[in-house]
Amino acid sequence: MTAKDRARLAAERLKALYPAVSELKHANPFQMLVATILSAQTTDRSVNSVTPALFAKYPDAAALAHANPAEVEAIIKPTGFFHVKAKTIIGASAALLERFHGEVPPLIEDLVTLPGVGRKTANVVLGVAFGIPGFAVDTHVKRLTRRLGLTKSTDPVKIEAEVTRMVPPEEWTGFSLRLILHGRRICLARTPRCPECVLNDFCPSSTVRVKGGRRPLTATAASVRSAHGRRTARKRPRRPGTRH
Ligand code: SF4
Repeated sequence: MTAKDRARLAAERLKALYPAVSELKHANPFQMLVATILSAQTTDRSVNSVTPALFAKYPDAAALAHANPAEVEAIIKPTGFFHVKAKTIIGASAALLERFHGEVPPLIEDLVTLPGVGRKTANVVLGVAFGIPGFAVDTHVKRLTRRLGLTKSTDPVKIEAEVTRMVPPEEWTGFSLRLILHGRRICLARTPRCPECVLNDFCPSSTVRVKGGRRPLTATAASVRSAHGRRTARKRPRRPGTRH
């Protein structure tokens, strides 16, 4: 099975398990941008615990751009690194106000010019807030794409480029969001729960072993192989007594 086959099959299997959603609460692109910046080095739950108060006080870029940093810090403190994060979301809001009329631009080239916004954040915002295909590579996506043998790279930009060549654009956002959810729930960093994983029959890193070597090829895997024009059937078992 090629890396492309594995990518497409993983996208298909995970689609049946997880919705293509971000767990960050937001009501518009501005809130999604701020929530994504705040999510660095912390959990979505922690971000969701502070954003209602933050957005009630600063509902848009104009309000946040003129905020008192100490007051913002006090609200976002539970997310950690609150001094830097307050500076970043205020700075990003000021840039939105100055260069984009206070609106979040729906283009990756513009998004990455905002303070504190890299390709990961930009792709999340594009995919989740605008419905524009974006394959965000966070720590979970990086780990899972390597374990699944979709890439050998550790560089998020290269991983994004490689995976987006393997799956169609309409799958980019969903595949990334689902890899994140799968990484949080099953393919954990220290101890992946391979026996419970729906990808364990074709994942090269699976710890699940079947007696006699190869894991069985599932019907879905077979259909993907078939779609790519390769032989799908496993060898028919030899009848006892036949000559070798
Ligand atoms: S089989 Fe194991 S290593 Fe592979 S994706 Fe699933 S949990 Fe991760």
